[in-house]
Amino acid sequence: MGQGLSCKVVQDEHGLFTAVQYGHLDIVNNLLLKDPSLIHQTTVYDRHSALHIAAANAQIEIVCLLLKNGSVNPDCLNRHKQTPLMLAAMHGKIACVEKLIEAKANILMFDSLNGRTCLHYAAYYGHSDCLEAILSAARTSHVAASWGFSRFVNIRDGKGATPLHLASRQRRSQCVHMLLDNGALVSASTGGYGFSGSTPLHLAARGGSIDCIRELLAWGADRLHRDASGRIPYLVALKHKNEACAALLNPSSAAPLVWPSPLKFISELNQDAKALLEQALMEANRAREKTILKGAGYSLQSPSHSDTGTVDDNTSEASETELCYICFDQVCTIEVQDCGHQMCAQCTLALCCHNKPDPTTASVTAPVCPFCRSNIARLVVAKVKVNDFDNDLDLYPSCKLPKLRKARNFSEGSSSFKGISGVSSFGKMVGRGSGKVSVDSECIDKS
Ligand SMILES: [Zn+2]
Ligand SMILES: [Zn+2]
Repeated sequence: MGQGLSCKVVQDEHGLFTAVQYGHLDIVNNLLLKDPSLIHQTTVYDRHSALHIAAANAQIEIVCLLLKNGSVNPDCLNRHKQTPLMLAAMHGKIACVEKLIEAKANILMFDSLNGRTCLHYAAYYGHSDCLEAILSAARTSHVAASWGFSRFVNIRDGKGATPLHLASRQRRSQCVHMLLDNGALVSASTGGYGFSGSTPLHLAARGGSIDCIRELLAWGADRLHRDASGRIPYLVALKHKNEACAALLNPSSAAPLVWPSPLKFISELNQDAKALLEQALMEANRAREKTILKGAGYSLQSPSHSDTGTVDDNTSEASETELCYICFDQVCTIEVQDCGHQMCAQCTLALCCHNKPDPTTASVTAPVCPFCRSNIARLVVAKVKVNDFDNDLDLYPSCKLPKLRKARNFSEGSSSFKGISGVSSFGKMVGRGSGKVSVDSECIDKS
C-alpha cells in the first residue's frame, strides 16, 4: 500500500515529476508552457500523474495550477486505480484534500488494490482532518443524494471492512470517534449481512488500542459477538497478547457505561451539552478501567477522593452555586428542557445511560426528568448563575466543587469482582459521594 511517491526511481526525462514533487512552481509552469501535452504524462511503473505526485506531497500550488483550467481530470487514475484524492488522504495532506474536493473530485471511487475509497484511506492512516473534510463533502455532494450519507460512512472495501473497521485495527481512536459520531455502525461485521465476520471491536482487540476499545464500548459494541472462527474480541486480544485490552474485553469484567440510544444522534442535543455528557461518560469509564486494570477485583480501590484530605463540611463556597440536587456533589451543568430542571452531567448520564441491554429484553424508553417526570425534549448547558463569579467561569474542564460529603462509598460489601459489575459503574458515575441514586428512588421525587 504505502508506495513512495519519490521520483528518483522513475524515468523523468523532462524533470517534470521531480519539479512537481519538490514544488518548483516556475519550472513546472515553464515545462507545461513549452509542451502542454506533458500534463498527461505519467510515471512509468505506477502511472502516477503530476497531480498524484503533487497531492501526495502537499504541493498545493502545483495542485491548483494543474486543476486551474480544467486541463487535468481531478479523478485521474494511477496503476492501482487510486485517485489523487486517495493519495492526499493517505498522506494526510489536508489542503490538497480540500482543494481536490473543491474541484469536484469524486469521493466515491474505489481503488483496485483493496477496493477502498478515500474515506478508507483517511481512516486507515488516521488523518482525522481529512476524514472530516471527506465526510462533510459527503453530506453536501451528490453522494448524499444518490447513496445516502450513512451508507457512505459505512462503505465497505473489497474485504468487507468499513472505515470504522480500519480505524479500529490501526489504532486511530480519533477517527473511530468521528466515524461513530457520524453514524458508523459499531456492530458492522466484515462478513456482511447474515455472515459471521469481525466487528470493529475484534479488530481493535487485535490492534491493541485501549482508546479505540473505550470508544467502541461506550458506543455499545458487543463483547460477545463472535467472528468467523467463533472468537469473541476478548480471545482475539489474548491471542495477540494485548493483555490490558483483554481485561476490558473480558465479558466478566464490569460493563462500561454506554451512550444511551436516545442520546446517540439526538440532533437537539446541543454541542456543548454533548461535550459535557461525553466527558462525564468517558471519565466514568476511565475510572472503571482503572479498577479493572489494577486487577483490584478483590478489594475495590478506596475512593478516589481519599487524597483530597479532610473536607470542611461547611462548604460555604458551594452554596453560592447550584449544586446538583441528586448527588449533592457536582455543579449543575445540564438543563433539561422544556421543564428547566437542572442537574450535573454525571447524573444526567446516569439517568439516561444503561449498561448494554440484553437484546432479548431490551426496551428503549425515552429518558424523563427525574424531578417532574416529563419527557426530556432537549438537554442544554445550564446557564451558570453569576453572582460573585466571573462571567466565564471555567466550569467545564472539571466541574467539581468542594464536596458536600456525608458520603460513604462502595468500598465495602463488594468483595468479589463480579459483585461490582454493572452496579459499580453506575454508582461510581453518580458521584463519589452519596452513591445513593437510583432512577426511581424517592429521594429524587422529594426534591
Ligand atoms: Zn449530580
Ligand atoms: Zn423537570
